[in-house]
Amino acid sequence: MISCRPFEYISSRFLTWSRICLLALLLGAGFTVPRTADSQEPRATAVTEHTEQPSSSIMRAALGLPFIEREAMRQAIYELASPEFAGRLTGADGYALAARYAAERFRAAGLVPGGPEGSFLQPFTVEANEVTGPMELRIEHDEWSGAPYRFGRDYVARGFTGTGRVDNAGVVFVGYGLVDAERGWNDYAGVNAQGKVALMFMGTPPGTSGWGEKSRPRFKASVAAERGVAGILFIDDPGATALSPIVSVYHGQEGEHQEQMPLLSIRNTIADDLLHGTSHTAVSLRRRIADTGSPFPLELTTRVTMEAGAQYTAAATTWNVVGWVEGSDPSVSDEYVIVGGHLDHVGQQAGVVYPGAQDNASGSVMIMAMAEAMARSPFKPRRSVCFVLFAGEELFLLGSEYFASHPPGGASTPIFQQFVVAADRLYGGFDLESQEPTPARPGASDHSAFVNAGVPTVYFHSSGAPGRAHTAADVPQNIDYDAFYRTTLVVYLTLFQMADQQ
Ligand SMILES: [Zn+2]
Repeated sequence: MISCRPFEYISSRFLTWSRICLLALLLGAGFTVPRTADSQEPRATAVTEHTEQPSSSIMRAALGLPFIEREAMRQAIYELASPEFAGRLTGADGYALAARYAAERFRAAGLVPGGPEGSFLQPFTVEANEVTGPMELRIEHDEWSGAPYRFGRDYVARGFTGTGRVDNAGVVFVGYGLVDAERGWNDYAGVNAQGKVALMFMGTPPGTSGWGEKSRPRFKASVAAERGVAGILFIDDPGATALSPIVSVYHGQEGEHQEQMPLLSIRNTIADDLLHGTSHTAVSLRRRIADTGSPFPLELTTRVTMEAGAQYTAAATTWNVVGWVEGSDPSVSDEYVIVGGHLDHVGQQAGVVYPGAQDNASGSVMIMAMAEAMARSPFKPRRSVCFVLFAGEELFLLGSEYFASHPPGGASTPIFQQFVVAADRLYGGFDLESQEPTPARPGASDHSAFVNAGVPTVYFHSSGAPGRAHTAADVPQNIDYDAFYRTTLVVYLTLFQMADQQ
């Protein structure tokens, strides 16, 4: 457990928020960092020559800003989002490469290593599943035989897909794939699912609640396996016109891994193809279940050939990347402000790479740029600042939870005062969010573990990103680098102020 000193919680929070607003106003009003007239290089030399300690905290903070370089950040986002890093899937080679890249930047900047034995890498283990292919999906009906659907455009694999092939199997529609004796709900009632492909919605029926782990895809796969189901086709959003994004790679780890069961997410229109010969569509079935408040299983007359290939590892080693800048005031330098963002993304599937430029190459690069700026700046804040790049955010926040329960230096050493996440999808501008303690949930981010431990947090992220998250279209070209640069300046000043305040 984290030990947390309250540290003037209310008043400091108020102070911090008012400062953030002021800083945001300054930057929104076109406040820019001075640059030399004849060069794109920041005025780093001028700053290092400025040895006199400015009396105001904001001036000490501002003198770190010239070390933040817009073009270098842009290049780093392009690099992390490049195919070389293969979508940075936790537990896969692409993430390991990204972690080494970040650790090297921390080392080169002169940060203090936060991992064991002088390393910047904090290891822990995760379940890993890399979707390698081959992939196939085809539908047949007595009246017609469908061409193969296209992987990545028409369907994707669930993160926890097993490796398996199903040839020309019958199909059952099983609602949400839920069975709960207590509430009298059985999506499999009256259908024979043995050896067949199950077609089901993600999530839980509208108007119902409290399904807990039963709503998770892998738990649904366990329920299906008990009924002899050979493969599952998930419909993510029956109203969607495009293939829904990979919601999250693992999106709920509850339930046993079904190593031989292919699990695919399909485009809404494929669900309608599967319902050929009935009077139903995916939308009408969803509405019917919602309106009647009861399951509506169906045996279908179409047949499916499907295949998925994946490499599963029950315990793969992965790493958070951790380093800090020592505070300048010995009376408080054993207190830490943590600033973090997640380095991982959803990886690649059978050659289709998910670059994750906004989510979260942007936040990762921001963390690295701020670490370097603070390390190079002649002025440090009074408290220490711990920079963390988390693994496993896309696996349900595993890295930040591990970090929060295994702080560097042992459970009693660092005292977390405040935690800033430069988090998801910084495509231009930012929103601020504070969060009440909640369990990990889809859409939450890495500050959750700290919020739940009672640590004050500030969460920077861009909302309203145009529907590209967790798709192959989350590419670096979509980021507004001027806005991203200004956001980084705001976050740096905020961070410095948090760590420097009396
Ligand atoms: Zn994400």
